[in-house]
Amino acid sequence: LGLVKYFKYIIVGGGVAAGYAAREFDRQGLVPGELAIVSKEAVAPYERPALSKGYLNPKGATRLPEFHVCVGSGGERLLPGWYKEKGIQLILGTEIVKVNLGSKTLISSRGETFTYQTLIIATGSTVVRLTDLKVEGADAKNIFYLRELEDADKLTESIKTKKNGKAVIIGGGYIGLEVGPAMRINNFDVTMVYPETWCMPRLFTAVLAAFYESYYANKGIKIIKGTVAVGFNAKSNGEVKGVKLKDGRVVEADIVVVGIGARPLTALFKGQVEEEKGGIKTDGFFRTSMPGVYAVGDVATFPIKLYNEMRRVEHVDHARKSAEQSVKAIKANETGKEIEEYDYLPFFYSRSFDLSWQFYGDNVGDTVFFGDNNPLSPKPKFGSYWIKDGKVVGAFLEGGTSEENKSIAKVSRLQPPVENLDQLKKEGLSFASKI
Ligand code: FAD
Repeated sequence: LGLVKYFKYIIVGGGVAAGYAAREFDRQGLVPGELAIVSKEAVAPYERPALSKGYLNPKGATRLPEFHVCVGSGGERLLPGWYKEKGIQLILGTEIVKVNLGSKTLISSRGETFTYQTLIIATGSTVVRLTDLKVEGADAKNIFYLRELEDADKLTESIKTKKNGKAVIIGGGYIGLEVGPAMRINNFDVTMVYPETWCMPRLFTAVLAAFYESYYANKGIKIIKGTVAVGFNAKSNGEVKGVKLKDGRVVEADIVVVGIGARPLTALFKGQVEEEKGGIKTDGFFRTSMPGVYAVGDVATFPIKLYNEMRRVEHVDHARKSAEQSVKAIKANETGKEIEEYDYLPFFYSRSFDLSWQFYGDNVGDTVFFGDNNPLSPKPKFGSYWIKDGKVVGAFLEGGTSEENKSIAKVSRLQPPVENLDQLKKEGLSFASKI
């Protein structure tokens, strides 16, 4: 039997949330040796969104250590030496395979045992694979997914070996909409395939989606909608050669990138904590149903005060903020202080080509479109408001300045009343700017 290692605080998972939690622990005061981060990944916490953006650039690609947390939110960069200096143990390349919250133990795949006083669950999500969905031939070589650094490295390697080749992107969500352009910029012949009538249907309205689809088409990306991949052809060496679509077509491919969704990594804790809406249920302090155990980031289903609703949010801004909130709550609990409940305004963003959008709030109710969405404009700038019960509850903006993005955040938070939707359309962005 191996040694049992005790830490006052353990964070399981070493992604975005873990890194921001470590910084907050340091801010609140930490004794060297108190905190450990146990992570399956081999590197210190980094800003995951970089993997589908700068990491894939053909020239001047971002590489670690450039994008370790907390640079993504304008903060200091926590290099491995920072953790060392603070006496925070980074236990990397270590997967936890068994958890017993009752006896406060974690067991790694190498058989190491860790115990703690307080645990933060920050295991994030994993990708949904076509092999999970039993799609024929989905285990062919050069079919990629994108979640961790290792995945991004495999993809960039194949971009080099399949130079100027054909790429098929499966899925029209965040990953597809960022990786499609990245492959195009790398001079691949790119085809995107997704089943819906327009891309990013969970957020985009038809008008918003139409802009991105024509912009992409103008950049030479082919888009096939309304059908799915049902199988893959492979060469005799096992490399993918073609994507078989449900409508009978076969699209040639040297590289396939699949972005069809993610699912939160909660299996280790099944039956040991309450779950809701596919995640680990927490309160506004990210406490789970088990005393001393917190859950943050992608795995947490938490109360959104603004909408009086339990939700799970798979976005980086929430990973950062929930991590900080949980550490504040842990420290407040120890010192008998009180802190405010989490009061989160949903914030999502994406970037591709020269485009950049932000969304704040809730995308429910009527929509009002405004601005210049001509895909051939030198600098398209447009957006949408969502209006529910006579109030603006959400706002989207493409091409905004940081000042303008702040104004759509503010409008979504304050939820001002609107009497006349035509008037709102006429005012467009200036409605938000004057709030
Ligand atoms: P993660 O950052 O995923 O970290 C989880 C960590 O836990 C990983 O290191 C994992 O290896 C580790 N782990 C899991 N299980 C175990 C285990 N059993 N033992 C040990 N370690 C374990 N969001 C946006 O808002 N905007 C974007 O532009 C954007 N772009 C993205 C691009 C990509 C390619 C990806 C994959 C995600 C993107 N996201 C984006 C989403 C965002 O990155 C996530 O919401 C965020 O990383 C969640 O943080 P987390 O700490 O909960 O999980």
